[in-house]
Amino acid sequence: MKICDKIEDVRKQVKEWKKEGLTIGFVPTMGYLHEGHRSLMEAARKENDKVVVSIFVNPMQFGPTEDLDSYPRDLDKDAVLCEGVGVDLIFHPEPQEMYPEGFCSYVDMNGLTTELCGKTRPTHFRGVQTVVLKLFHIVTPDNAYFGQKDAQQLAVIRRMVKDLSLDVTIHGCPIVREEDGLAKSSRNTYLNEKERKAALILSQSLAVGKELIASGETDASRIKQAIADKIATEPLARIDYVDVVDFDTITPVDTISGSTLVAIAVYIGKTRLIDNFIL
Ligand code: AMP
Repeated sequence: MKICDKIEDVRKQVKEWKKEGLTIGFVPTMGYLHEGHRSLMEAARKENDKVVVSIFVNPMQFGPTEDLDSYPRDLDKDAVLCEGVGVDLIFHPEPQEMYPEGFCSYVDMNGLTTELCGKTRPTHFRGVQTVVLKLFHIVTPDNAYFGQKDAQQLAVIRRMVKDLSLDVTIHGCPIVREEDGLAKSSRNTYLNEKERKAALILSQSLAVGKELIASGETDASRIKQAIADKIATEPLARIDYVDVVDFDTITPVDTISGSTLVAIAVYIGKTRLIDNFIL
């Protein structure tokens, strides 16, 4: 397994693979890898000749008061996990390599990024789109793998690929959870013991919503209210949003029909966690 920190080195390797007619699967990450990331890499491993993983804590997708500096990093451990899955190349650039002095080009979107996480993180998706497009140009993958854990991100990337006619197939992969239901996340490491227990309220409240829908409820406001009421039973939890949107357009729906995303963001202490389910 190669580890490259320069764009040119990745390009050189990818060109050699392409000359041999090999397909490339790509998994973009911010590192501190866990089973959720591993599931994406395994899907990529199964469906491609070569697998590239990027590990880059992208400053552009963090707001000024967010956790860029404290975001967990452990390249050595990440490399062991990647090697175990059979990854062929890790791209681990420094911010300066991705955004050299004078950098001023961005990818933006008018729809899809205003609701959910876009409300409290207004510059987040611009940072995500810009870095992902740049990574796609560097790695030129045939297939790229994203987790449904970040459902809005998945919808935004799909839209960007369609709108800009990018020659890559996007694969959405299911949420991987801890045994007790908490969605795996690099940010779970911020939680102390009490908060870790409190964080179960995310998956538990979504389960309440799911049950309600299974019993025949289609009114989005009643579903949102039931989820919010459940979250309110946990004293350490503070709601950022509870929303029901169309999964393709990320616009609010009043009644559930078709492909619907039920998504929440909740602060547990100072840590902001997200979770969702898609109907
Ligand atoms: P991140 O390192 O948090 O930027 O995540 C990199 C990729 O891993 C994104 O496509 C995430 O959606 C995906 N991912 C993160 N956590 C999970 C999880 N628990 N299950 C499935 N995919 C995940």
